[in-house]
Amino acid sequence: TRRKFIAGNWKMNGSVGQVDAFGRALVEAAPSLDCDLAVCVPFVYVERLARALESTHVAAGAQDLSSEVDPGAFTGEINGSMLAECGARYVVVGHSERREMFGETDDIVVAKAEAAIAAGLTPIVCIGESLEQREADETENVLARQIGALTRGCERRTLEAMVLAYEPIWAIGTGRSATPEQAQSVHAFVRSQIANWDATIADSLPILYGGSVKPDNASALFAGADVDGALVGGASLKADSFVDIARAVI
Ligand code: 13P
Repeated sequence: TRRKFIAGNWKMNGSVGQVDAFGRALVEAAPSLDCDLAVCVPFVYVERLARALESTHVAAGAQDLSSEVDPGAFTGEINGSMLAECGARYVVVGHSERREMFGETDDIVVAKAEAAIAAGLTPIVCIGESLEQREADETENVLARQIGALTRGCERRTLEAMVLAYEPIWAIGTGRSATPEQAQSVHAFVRSQIANWDATIADSLPILYGGSVKPDNASALFAGADVDGALVGGASLKADSFVDIARAVI
């Protein structure tokens, strides 16, 4: 059985004060939370958050990394080893905001997932369809393409270690979550696609749902047999709502 995993994605939000307050709240709450937990924050806060969470089982993470593994002349880039040295254990890869606004292709996503593994980080690889694609009945084709890129491009050890996050773009930041039935049906499809490639990996692969997860819809979403947790945006910014989502794990 797969242990539930709740990950936060702060996106371009937060401050030193928020990191410190979040850290204090999680030190209090973590002992009573029976699931895996991570919070992915802007690069500049990773080390501070990791230190604040040192005494807990809550991991710190980043939201992106360079596809370049080795140091060099890549102005503005941050590689996986730097993140690991700062205490990150996870990194979000291929979020739809990066795919849409920063031109990340399936190939770049594969390269970044590989770079994460090379640095000892666990990539949380995001996939998901747009509203137009869903309305055109393209959801499964889009997901099959995104998953195909991963199974073709990634090393076996990467697929064994990664976490997948299904984030329908129309549900992100809209307050309009997928229904528990929609989420479960897509998660089952995603797992079956991976199973076509390797049944053992499919069975152990954590598949998180992301898109307007809140304390009041979390437990219904987590009831789906193939929904292994959540990637939480807005509701992860406050410790209270993040902790309430983790408490919704049954
Ligand atoms: P929201 O929870 O704010 O909808 O964001 C979801 C998301 O994109 C997490 O990566």
